[in-house]
Amino acid sequence: MLRWNGYGKETITYPLSETARLYFSQILGRAEHPPDVERASVIVRPPHPFSKSHPLLQFDDETRLQHALGQSFPDLAAKRFGQFPRFPDAVAFPESDQDVTDLLVWARTAGTQVIPFGGGTSVVGGVNPAKREEDDRPVLTISLARLNDLHDLDEVSHLATFGAGTLGPYVEAQLRAHDFTLGHYPQSFEHSSLGGWVATRSAGQQSLSYGRIESLFAGGTIETPSGRITLPSLPASAAGPDLRQLILGSEGRLGIITKATVRVRPLPETEIFYGVMFPDWTTGIHAAREAIQAGTPLSMMRLSNPTETETFLKLPEHQNQVGILRSLLKWKNFTSEKCLMLFGVSGSNTMVRFGRRAMVEVTRQHHGFWLTELIGRQWAKSRFRSAYLRDTLWEHGYAIDTLETAVPWNAVPIASQTILNVLADAVSPVLAMLHLSHMYRDGASLYFTFVFRVGATWEETIQRWRALKAAGSKAVLSVGGTITHQHGVGVEHRPYLTPEKSELGIETLRNVQKSLDPLGIMNPGKLI
Ligand SMILES: Cc1cc2nc3c(=O)[nH]c(=O)nc-3n(C[C@H](O)[C@H](O)[C@H](O)COP(=O)(O)OP(=O)(O)OC[C@H]3O[C@@H](n4cnc5c(N)ncnc54)[C@H](O)[C@@H]3O)c2cc1C
Repeated sequence: MLRWNGYGKETITYPLSETARLYFSQILGRAEHPPDVERASVIVRPPHPFSKSHPLLQFDDETRLQHALGQSFPDLAAKRFGQFPRFPDAVAFPESDQDVTDLLVWARTAGTQVIPFGGGTSVVGGVNPAKREEDDRPVLTISLARLNDLHDLDEVSHLATFGAGTLGPYVEAQLRAHDFTLGHYPQSFEHSSLGGWVATRSAGQQSLSYGRIESLFAGGTIETPSGRITLPSLPASAAGPDLRQLILGSEGRLGIITKATVRVRPLPETEIFYGVMFPDWTTGIHAAREAIQAGTPLSMMRLSNPTETETFLKLPEHQNQVGILRSLLKWKNFTSEKCLMLFGVSGSNTMVRFGRRAMVEVTRQHHGFWLTELIGRQWAKSRFRSAYLRDTLWEHGYAIDTLETAVPWNAVPIASQTILNVLADAVSPVLAMLHLSHMYRDGASLYFTFVFRVGATWEETIQRWRALKAAGSKAVLSVGGTITHQHGVGVEHRPYLTPEKSELGIETLRNVQKSLDPLGIMNPGKLI
């Protein structure tokens, strides 16, 4: 069973160790967990009465509640405090492309807005019904959950075509049965869908070797209110602008992606994750950049700043191993400025050996300390479970959210410091930290996490979050970063989009949207 008021499965938790609890209370003060509303007390407003129905529509309260919100911080607060702004009036579960076409025709005639729903893990309000004051048409949410098959696997060309609603584990399970992998692992992997990844331009944790979803998406089908577009999977083409780039990141504004063809690879022979400690942030950044620009064949790299490194070390339940590590690091003269780098190597045995050897050299040159393989193994083991920490912290009275951007390498140090300073000033007390996650030859993504106390009321909690989010987002623009490296625009980042796209750019997107969706029924209020 999925949690109705949090993330993921009810049976999975991320318990907070006593050390971690003390750590958070020392920094943020003792916190109270405001009582959660009971599921039974959430009043789901009756759906809009439609003059004609459709056999695929469901109107029951439970289904409408489950599709009312995504996984953004305001969504979590709304669920915990029982402040649901709006429910879809109906939810449909199409089983074929033709069902989707029929539903879009029905939606046009019934005068509803339409929200495509993949896994519902959007952290930017992407699947939430538009505010009534922005669009009061009834809401039809279309879940892609039943479009979840592997339609075709071309083992010669390494191309696989899936229904867009296929969730991460089913993408991998269906490929692994044939010894292939897509290798796309966002932290939300277990509950997000292929269509959602394409619609939000998602980045998987191992983007260094597999690439972001943009490089994996080879073609597909999108049903729009104006008709169907099918994009063939071609290895390359000079036939004008690439329409795949319009579908990538379209966030349900242009239509519903029903099928996606992705570039897959044979399963790697070996995959190992390692950890290295660097003496400080500046040294860590240099080491990361050098490794990436030298073309070291890694599958992932993540460099935590000193605060995040310390927080990471507080989280494990068994602190005796961390104690041994701390003693070793002290003996090696590492101070509280130390920064943890995690990296992975995946591929043939030869390539893995080569990548590891190159990283040993980078570590040596930058006075790093190679940690036991346990650290990398632990990270890999809990890479999807750490998503559950947000609910655990909430239950201890602490709120956690993230902010992400990407900048060129020369701006990484100043952007990191500027955004951290702004977050620290926006609300007090706050614990703000960051890591560089996805690395490119010309820059890196900066992923900030901020923890603060949940307020006694929904209003107080949201006010604190808004102060942090607005200050952080403005700081991102002030350092010339993108407003989002991977989470997409949705509602939360929409006010900050124009500087990156320009007025004319936004107008161009709006015109494209008008030609595919003249009545503006698709996911109003998101992206543009
Ligand atoms: C704990 C957690 C960790 C996360 N980690 C990462 C991460 O590591 N990397 C990352 O990139 N993101 C991450 N995210 C964000 C989120 O998981 C991604 O944006 C993901 O791509 C959304 O996929 P989904 O299937 O859940 O889409 P949804 O949330 O259902 O939808 C997202 C948007 O896409 C649209 N959409 C969905 N399916 C379709 C479709 N078939 N056709 C047209 N439009 C569609 C929706 O209307 C909406 O606007 C994380 C989220 C959570 C909660």
